[in-house]
Amino acid sequence: MGYFFNANLILPDRIDEGTQFAWNDREIVFTDRRKIRRLLKPEENLHGKYIAPGFVDLHVHGGDGADFMDLTAEAFRTVCRCHARHGTTSLTPTSTVGTRDQYRRFLELCGELRNTDTGGARVLGGHLYGPYFHPPAKGCHPNADFLTPQPEQDDDLLSFAGRGLTTLTVAPETPGTERLVRAARDRGLLVTAGHTFATFPQMEAAVGWGVRHVDHLFCAMSDRARLRQQQAYPMRAGVMEATLYHDELTTEVIADGWHLSAELLKLAYKVKGPDRLALVSDAMRAVDMPDGEYWFGATGSGELVRRKGEVGVTLDASGLASGVMGLDHGLRTFHRLTGAPLHEVVRMASLTPARILGLDADIGSLEAGKRADFVILDEQLNVEQVYVGGVPLGEPAA
Ligand SMILES: [Zn+2]
Repeated sequence: MGYFFNANLILPDRIDEGTQFAWNDREIVFTDRRKIRRLLKPEENLHGKYIAPGFVDLHVHGGDGADFMDLTAEAFRTVCRCHARHGTTSLTPTSTVGTRDQYRRFLELCGELRNTDTGGARVLGGHLYGPYFHPPAKGCHPNADFLTPQPEQDDDLLSFAGRGLTTLTVAPETPGTERLVRAARDRGLLVTAGHTFATFPQMEAAVGWGVRHVDHLFCAMSDRARLRQQQAYPMRAGVMEATLYHDELTTEVIADGWHLSAELLKLAYKVKGPDRLALVSDAMRAVDMPDGEYWFGATGSGELVRRKGEVGVTLDASGLASGVMGLDHGLRTFHRLTGAPLHEVVRMASLTPARILGLDADIGSLEAGKRADFVILDEQLNVEQVYVGGVPLGEPAA
């Protein structure tokens, strides 16, 4: 239980200045100016610092030297603790390209660690990312035997729905994907399109099957220019244009300032708006680590990439290779580069991703009755303290 006064609360639609905020072991109790200070202990004057809802990361692979594809509970906890230091209180561990056995173990661990005390961010469930990529769109991911949808094999992976599997990424142009998407939707999964060179009509069909989200807008996807390499005219639209066009589709950006320029972030924000655009880290294990070479994915069987300053690059430096910064950096960067109001930028890192996962009744904003997941930010939006389920980071849960 705790209580702050003189806090600036970042609510979904505004910043409420000089307000009080109280929470108990699990939930936020109130967020207003009521005069019951003396009844509550301990109390603390926040001197106008911000309280933001804890961030929710839909797309994250690793941090602090560990990758979820290392496939140990300790690696999971290391990544969760790392991202919690950056304000993330909930996340969906995201796999990279691997073998079927690796995917199954990954999903088992997501199920085992879901909603447990990791000492950091809460595991919401796994984002199965990699098996169904369109191979030419794999980007920096390891070369592997990509799966084409097959009912028996798909149903084996989808059987983890409800026990560790939350999100599935597909490439709509791959034959057999319609059945896969419909089967995943029947099991309640969020289905996203990613690492795909689909055409606009293929994306439109995929929306009809139930695809509702698109991974890292502008990255590893088809657009007019790429499709023109196969057909000069008429020029055609691809995944990028379909994502901007279809209101049914939410999407996400890696707002580290290195993947996308300010104008692309502004375009995404203007067209999709703060309720259809989430900030993600897409971070690999080099978060909070020095520059150098790191395995993206499993140690030994993933892909070697390099951390170079605030971004990951391929070893030959010809391409990007995932993020290396926490979501707090993305929040500050998006705010600085787009000029979007702070409460909307925070919403894109909290309530919007929570809603995309269908978990906004429980997490994603500072509201009485929601989990006490919140972040204290200074005026420069640096993380000062993080609370997961009412417990400050660094203190063992009771
Ligand atoms: Zn990716």
